[in-house]
Amino acid sequence: MSSLTEKDRPIVQLLLNTGTCPRCILRFCCVGSQTLYRHPYKDLMKDLKEFLKKNQEKEDTVCFDVVDPPCKRIRLEHTEEGPDDVNHNGGLQQFPLVNNEDTAVENLAVKVCNVCLGVLQEFCEVDFVKKVCQKVNSADYQFTSFVFSMSLPPQLSVRERAAWLLVKQEMGATACPDCFKPAKNKQSVFTRMAVIKALEKIKEEDFLKHFPCPPSSPKNLCVALEIQCNNGAVFVAGRYNKYSRNLPQTPWIIDGERKLESSVEELISGHLMAEFKADSFNFSSSGREDVDVRTLGNGRPFAIELVNPRRIHFTAEEMKGLQQTINNSSDKIQVRDLQLVTREAIGRMKEGEEEKTKTYSALIWIDKAIQKEDIAFLDDIKELKLDQKTPLRVLHRRPLAVRCRIIHTMKSEYIDEHHFRLHLKTQAGTYIKEFVHGDFGRTKPNIGSLLNRTADILELDVESVDVDWPPTLDN
Ligand code: ZN
Repeated sequence: MSSLTEKDRPIVQLLLNTGTCPRCILRFCCVGSQTLYRHPYKDLMKDLKEFLKKNQEKEDTVCFDVVDPPCKRIRLEHTEEGPDDVNHNGGLQQFPLVNNEDTAVENLAVKVCNVCLGVLQEFCEVDFVKKVCQKVNSADYQFTSFVFSMSLPPQLSVRERAAWLLVKQEMGATACPDCFKPAKNKQSVFTRMAVIKALEKIKEEDFLKHFPCPPSSPKNLCVALEIQCNNGAVFVAGRYNKYSRNLPQTPWIIDGERKLESSVEELISGHLMAEFKADSFNFSSSGREDVDVRTLGNGRPFAIELVNPRRIHFTAEEMKGLQQTINNSSDKIQVRDLQLVTREAIGRMKEGEEEKTKTYSALIWIDKAIQKEDIAFLDDIKELKLDQKTPLRVLHRRPLAVRCRIIHTMKSEYIDEHHFRLHLKTQAGTYIKEFVHGDFGRTKPNIGSLLNRTADILELDVESVDVDWPPTLDN
């Protein structure tokens, strides 16, 4: 008990008498070193007892620096106002004076601490630590460092305040005022915050009216509800090609009913989830294509956040293998440049998205017969400004607005009297289908209006998404 000094003695005795556990007592005595807290509970109790005995014997000579004589009995100052006084005193008499009787110490050893509800009793013992280790080991996580955090009942804050007031009243406010500043709590649970806020606001005399001081001795030990293991998320990025005109990017579910059996994100993430042994995933990409639109060329950048993965270390070779597995599993999609990235890097996929360009290839049908010369002028149009009212087909999920978009260049490819292919380089976010058929005049100008005919789009492919992220890999 080398960390305790003579001035701690009355605090130790007071708190032991009122049913506080040795580790809480060390806290209240400002013992900062972890070593002492690691001692087994029984040893700590024995040491505290010896500490008190030693001082008891030397009381007249050693305790010269204790201003107030140590209390053998708990006294509350507000005897007239406090409605719980009878209970307080009644409860207090049940506490043995531990420094006088060995058997009392043994009894106290099994008493649930009135400040921590046993959190610093059972949960600091080897048995519980073993239990935590078993849980972590059986969860089969890959990790190099870890954080152990506990979610504590808000009640502990109230009990701690009561114990603090007790010490303060009995010892005078001079004893270790720094120890008892309200600790910053990282938990954001509302009830916890409410308790802490209330404790900050309440006046000491009001607190004493509502809560026994010292805190009553609890009947039940605080139980560990759950030991949870969690790994921080890892991020995988790459580019995907979509070769199907019958595959949505994300699961297509209308009114709870699934419309198509798969999706791009599922075809990719299924394998990643299995390999990383993650709980869930979040898929994001640089824009998206319609269910009937293919994405060709170098593909569309995407990123997947894998939540709570067990496995996190993958070599470049293993990532390559994983990419191969994904590509072998479906002919509807292919991925490339599959790699582990940081959370911060994903921002680069989204930044400046509006300014980026995309190139498309559209197969167009025209109602009246056309000749090659009729469409040749399209190739000369540069930086064509469009006004696009929110398309009818997405009006149910997007607000009505007029967007200005730019078609940078176009190149026509004559097929027959009613068909031609148009290659377009556009500002990201341009509605291509609407630019072709006009959307009942909601997109101006449009291919129909430029040709003075009725036009419709039969097929659309994304030829490239000009975002230079993630880095190209040489596989
Ligand atoms: Zn305790």
